Amino acid sequence: MASHLTEAVGRLTQPLVAVLGPLAVCALVFAGLAWLAKGPRALADARAAAGETKINAAMVAVDALAVGPLLAIGMAAVVGGLTTYGLQLDTARLWAWLGRWPTVAVAVVLGDFFGYWRHRAQHSRWLWPAHAVHHSDTRLTWFSLERMHPIDRAGSLLDMVLLSALGLPVWALAANALVRHYYGYFVHADLPWTLGKAGWVINSPVMHRWHHARDVEGSGHNFATVFSVWDRAFGTYYQPGPCAVPLGVREDMGDGALGQYAHPLKVWARALLRPRRVELSS
Ligand SMILES: [Zn+2]
Ligand SMILES: [Zn+2]
Repeated sequence: MASHLTEAVGRLTQPLVAVLGPLAVCALVFAGLAWLAKGPRALADARAAAGETKINAAMVAVDALAVGPLLAIGMAAVVGGLTTYGLQLDTARLWAWLGRWPTVAVAVVLGDFFGYWRHRAQHSRWLWPAHAVHHSDTRLTWFSLERMHPIDRAGSLLDMVLLSALGLPVWALAANALVRHYYGYFVHADLPWTLGKAGWVINSPVMHRWHHARDVEGSGHNFATVFSVWDRAFGTYYQPGPCAVPLGVREDMGDGALGQYAHPLKVWARALLRPRRVELSS
């Protein structure tokens, strides 16, 4: 009986154990980069971010144990549906002709283009309450990428659905997801780097920090994850210099991770249930 229970607990917690290894490596890498960039101040900054980091860690656990597996099933069903109902472009010969790495490059460039517009939509009135969860971290670190409401995370899969509809192979979709995920950690990192001339083409930690600004106009800019060219092309690029303004959102997000999960549901419920004023004509 006890061995069955141990086995069941082991199986249930397997996804969590699987994410802990890569997260530990990332924690070491970004701690090293922060020390290189800021010296001992990196330690003080990490201590100041401890409260926000705890909320992010709780959300990682929920994602690994519940949200991630559910979204993976949903994604497989959608991609399977596209194939079954012939909703994918027949581009297999194009990818075979291009070869593996150019195909991955196409997936990453197009994926970031789709991601740019999807992210702009997440800042619209009705989608913002869920996206506000990601923005509510007042001490942005690489780990802040993990702070995402399940509804917001589900919406982010739209990029993959569009890439799949274009007929890109599953391995190219997987490579794009990896690039976006790890580059996403980098642009959220607490590093004062603009990347110099490379910043004309690719996104930098300073550029994305402005996107998380609480009060200033920078918060309505810098939507892409990997390439800064999309923001330059569509007039949303903003990087006046190093970003030292307050980060976060103006909304009250409630307490801890539970408050974060409940926040958009409360906002939407309030908006839908608000009594409408009826104009009576005489
Ligand atoms: Zn945003
Ligand atoms: Zn962000």
